[in-house]
Amino acid sequence: MARADFSPKEIHYFETPLIDRSAIIPCFSLNKNVLLPSGWRSVPVRALAAEFFAGHELSVAPALPVIFRACHIAQWLLDSVFCGSCGAKNEMSKHEFSRKCPVCGRIEYPRVSPAIIIRIINANDEILLAHDKKFSENIYSLIAGFYEAGERLEDTAEREVFEEVGLRIKNIRYISSQSWPFPNSLMIGFSADYSGGNIRCDGVEIEDARWFKRDNLPNLPAYGSIARSLIEEWRTS
Ligand SMILES: [Zn+2]
Repeated sequence: MARADFSPKEIHYFETPLIDRSAIIPCFSLNKNVLLPSGWRSVPVRALAAEFFAGHELSVAPALPVIFRACHIAQWLLDSVFCGSCGAKNEMSKHEFSRKCPVCGRIEYPRVSPAIIIRIINANDEILLAHDKKFSENIYSLIAGFYEAGERLEDTAEREVFEEVGLRIKNIRYISSQSWPFPNSLMIGFSADYSGGNIRCDGVEIEDARWFKRDNLPNLPAYGSIARSLIEEWRTS
């Protein structure tokens, strides 16, 4: 077993129950910068997903949701060792997948951070795509942003679009969602129509935003992301 190739400080064992509780998947996480044994290689999970959705790694297809879930759970286990209220060490709950503080009783579930992502089309059948400072060079994608407490998701979409590019939107419609465990997002995908305003990039996150026709699209995010699937759905419609 490869576990023996690492010192106890380098490797962490955890279990990921499938959501329907039909099985428990044994998982190991390695510390960053650990030297891998001969013949091993590390593959970023995002790259694995991109390969799969591009049709190059079909062998991982059944495992992908489990891999995403395990990534999410691994990060949550690292972040929830101690109670957020009193600081005591949490214990795993017996009857559900959560951690419970033995001192104050606080229960913590795997944290999920909702974020919206939105495809905006104008009256000329053009799509709004933006270059975020965090993106690789020349990649343009959809506007996205995190949900704020107290909002409806539609409010989040309107706010993020106005904050990042100064536009107003209408006819906001839910399309689909995607688990995005980097570290714990749920991406909620919408489409909307442009309703007003001129593009004004916030300069903080968004460096450039433009309308693109479907036959003249820039470099797009990788397959495997909800961003790409929302763009492709429009492009091929
Ligand atoms: Zn506590």
